[in-house]
Amino acid sequence: MSDTIYFVGPWDLARELPCVPADPDQGVVVMIESVAKGKALPWHRQKLVLVLSAIRHFAAELEAAGYTVDLAQAPSYVEGIRAAAARHGAKRVVAMRPREWSLDQALTQEALEELELVLHPSGGEGGHFLLSREEWFGWVGQQRKKNATKTLRMDTFYRWMRKRLGLLLDGEGKPVGGKWSYDAENRKSIPKGVQPPPAPYFEPDELTREVMSQVAGWRDRWGSVEGFRWPVTRAQALEVLDGFVSERLGEFGDYQDGMRGGDAFLWHSLISSSLNLSLLHPREVVEEALAAYERGDAPLNAVEGFVRQVIGWREFIRGVYWLRMPELRSANLLDARRPLPRFYWEPERTDMACLRDAAGSVLEHGYAHHIQRLMVLGNFALLAEVEPIQLSHWFWAGFVDAYEWVELPNVAGMALYADDTFTTKPYAASASYVNKMSDYCKGCRYAVSKRTGENACPFNFLFWNFMARHRERLSDNFRLKMLYKTWDRWDDEERDTIRAQAAAFLDELEPAEQGWSFEDDAC
Ligand SMILES: Cc1cc2nc3c(=O)[nH]c(=O)nc-3n(C[C@H](O)[C@H](O)[C@H](O)COP(=O)(O)OP(=O)(O)OC[C@H]3O[C@@H](n4cnc5c(N)ncnc54)[C@H](O)[C@@H]3O)c2cc1C
Ligand code: SF4
Repeated sequence: MSDTIYFVGPWDLARELPCVPADPDQGVVVMIESVAKGKALPWHRQKLVLVLSAIRHFAAELEAAGYTVDLAQAPSYVEGIRAAAARHGAKRVVAMRPREWSLDQALTQEALEELELVLHPSGGEGGHFLLSREEWFGWVGQQRKKNATKTLRMDTFYRWMRKRLGLLLDGEGKPVGGKWSYDAENRKSIPKGVQPPPAPYFEPDELTREVMSQVAGWRDRWGSVEGFRWPVTRAQALEVLDGFVSERLGEFGDYQDGMRGGDAFLWHSLISSSLNLSLLHPREVVEEALAAYERGDAPLNAVEGFVRQVIGWREFIRGVYWLRMPELRSANLLDARRPLPRFYWEPERTDMACLRDAAGSVLEHGYAHHIQRLMVLGNFALLAEVEPIQLSHWFWAGFVDAYEWVELPNVAGMALYADDTFTTKPYAASASYVNKMSDYCKGCRYAVSKRTGENACPFNFLFWNFMARHRERLSDNFRLKMLYKTWDRWDDEERDTIRAQAAAFLDELEPAEQGWSFEDDAC
């Protein structure tokens, strides 16, 4: 009997990761369903189905390949590892360095006592991420030496990653096509009549159906298991990736920032849930997109845009998480204190068509695409001064691809400007942005171009109220100077009306019902 067990975390579902021994005889593979984690937040039921079904499929795949797999429920991951070590007479545990702060703390703070713990880096050579934490901190150190300002810039990071990985460069190390980023070309609104291909759907197999009926009966969780569609195996994840590259990537760039009522998926890749469980590796998804470009099957603006999301934003966001934890959980630069509105959990309770659709998509699928997350769900919470941790909990619980390492920096850093590690101003926008990028406003009971008065779109008076409230902090930003000039041109009456309508609207917003519990540290 080997004295080593191999702990495969629920997000480490890849044969290539070193938490899976190369040879089945090297030791038992231990997989744990943590009761504490399962109850930590009011998870969307489809997210629970996804994670549990993916774990169980992976365990079955390993068993079929000759591994001994001990898949057990335990009060927590740490207790599960200890119990498994005792069951198998092991003295040594091999695992990947956890992606979330709480489990990382729990494992590295001697919680395993007498057991020797070998933790492989979660990034860099052999890991899931393209960068190791040390490489990330090395880059941060360089930036801090070079720059007087403390803001870390994603575009600088992205260029560094492109050069480091040698992607989309010409023979002289310059960007192919002459530009590092085609972001400015990727902001087209979606023309009427242009339809995306149907989004992938996987009929649940017997194992998934079993999990669905189990999870359906769990209380204090959100959403329904019905309509579950997400890939739960590597084979299915590869199908999603192939389908994206052959059918959607071509238009991904053009319509990346577009929104359309009733269509949650558009031309997005839908690979985030698979990437975050390691069913896909970021390197392979980027290689597939680049191969499509080489074949002439996808234009540069689309491929560069996609590569930027994966090697740029995804790695950068993860780095920010490790840089800013645990303070990131309480970051609240704008001192926003209002409760999360109830309609985030119950979308039918709002008449705001854009919010009802975006939050409704999360309730239905555990998913909304990036611009819905940032410019609708995030933007509203920003303007409504929602306490950041409350929005973070909603994102973490509600999305099939959400883990704290990725949702928290996106919520706190990008959507709410609660932390200024990588942003110099909030992504605040009035209704005209939503109107330009979507078809929502046509069917809405609110008037998109009215700033105040009956039926005025709340995004308008909330936007101006927000900008006025935070003038002292924001007016130095040269990109906002014009905006404050406009505010100053209006008379006092107009400004008072905006403030009064915003205050009345915010006071009337129904807060989320009490009763959900959120245990950030449970693991
Ligand atoms: C407020 C907010 C919360 C978010 N929470 C999450 C989350 O919990 N989990 C998550 O994976 N992404 C999160 N994102 C990032 C992004 O919205 C999703 O990755 C994307 O919508 C997933 O859908 P897709 O796979 O179809 O992505 P696509 O639009 O097709 O993009 C391709 C891939 O790029 C990566 N990516 C793009 N932008 C980001 C980003 N800002 N951060 C990290 N990865 C990125 C993802 O892996 C994504 O799968 C959040 C963004 C915002 C603004
Ligand atoms: S009018 Fe306002 S609330 Fe209605 S869809 Fe447009 S932006 Fe959203």
